[in-house]
Amino acid sequence: MAVKLIAMDLDGTLMAPDHITVTEKTKAALEKAHDMGIKTVIATGRTLSVIHDVLEQVPFIDYVIYSNGAVVYDRCKGINIYTNFMPADTVEKVVDILESYPVYYELYANGSSNTQKSKAVFFKNKDLPAEFLDFYMQSLVNHDNLSEFAKNNDIEKINLFYFDGEFYDEIKDKLFAIENIDRTSPVSGDIEMTFKGVNKGAALDNMCKELCFTPDEVMSFGDADNDIEMLQFAGYGIAMGNASEDCKAAAKYETLSNGEDGIAAAIEKYIFHASKPKLLVSACLLGENCKYNGSNNYTKEIADLKDRFELIPICPECFGGLPIPRVPNEITDGRAISKNGEDFTAEYHDGAEKTLYIANESNCCYALLKERSPSCGFGKIYDGTFSGTLVDGNGITADLLDQNGIRIFGESQVKKLLDEFGF
Ligand code: SF4
Repeated sequence: MAVKLIAMDLDGTLMAPDHITVTEKTKAALEKAHDMGIKTVIATGRTLSVIHDVLEQVPFIDYVIYSNGAVVYDRCKGINIYTNFMPADTVEKVVDILESYPVYYELYANGSSNTQKSKAVFFKNKDLPAEFLDFYMQSLVNHDNLSEFAKNNDIEKINLFYFDGEFYDEIKDKLFAIENIDRTSPVSGDIEMTFKGVNKGAALDNMCKELCFTPDEVMSFGDADNDIEMLQFAGYGIAMGNASEDCKAAAKYETLSNGEDGIAAAIEKYIFHASKPKLLVSACLLGENCKYNGSNNYTKEIADLKDRFELIPICPECFGGLPIPRVPNEITDGRAISKNGEDFTAEYHDGAEKTLYIANESNCCYALLKERSPSCGFGKIYDGTFSGTLVDGNGITADLLDQNGIRIFGESQVKKLLDEFGF
């Protein structure tokens, strides 16, 4: 099944090993996939404010799943389309435990990472590159009293950073005794806590339901344990070559490491080499009984095009709400008039708009249409006298598609279409 959405983790996956750069090769593959109409999604444990530098490198990204799946942000609309915050009493229990130990922690809320400056002395950097750490620290929002902040804000995630000291087991036991939180450790010594059931896979599932995409139409990439649910959800769950063993076991496929442009390699293999060009086709030519008299114009040569193209059947007159069977129409002075003299121009335009919408949503630039039809005809149509006389002109849908840059072929031009694609 054709991929309609690509979701990817950041650190260890989209980002090069420096945690800062998206390589030109990976960026080009993702941009080409996006131009084909595939939605692109970043799914990260980071919060929104810490990925602006990434989005500057890949500005075409459509959605961001952040804070390990607590929030889904629609970049086109500029709004959160899904949230699943931690309950206030759970936040209070976690914060009470953390406040009673000498540890460094952050509260993810309002798309930012919030901390208390006086706790910075407890921060231990285990392996983050200095340049990334500088950038990260600058993105933090400091508060005088973090526990007060916790009481007054919706908390997406609580992150206890790199602690491995003498209190490790004690704190871990207390945190793990709290029932309704989920915990992951994408990096050794790091404990990230969200509300139970929050993870990147659940957020992706929710988002795909909104977009009417099935899991089979989703490709996801990850390397760490907080990517496992997202890899299990997607039809194309792909572990990076540098992924943890658990991650590789959860994924259906494996690609190269992030240092070897693993995302680009998998997109090349599973999308670019596998995908067929898209083609709108008048549904009656494919055998659908949608003609005015309830029959069809089935043509085997056209049905067989499915081996070379992803065919998208359209019947503008049905989209416009006209019944089957119906009294035939022809175009007179730009209006669709039936043989009985009724005016169906509005229905014809409605059907044309819906067809254009489908073409745009599918990122489809080619159409093979029924010749001479008052909707689908292109170049020649009947003259409105119902006498079989042809005149120069276009059907209403063909005209709208043509005005919007869609290349149109008639059913007698299959060879020309194949030649144009080099088949
Ligand atoms: Fe065929 Fe187009 Fe007429 Fe529908 S509107 S029956 S697809 S010619």
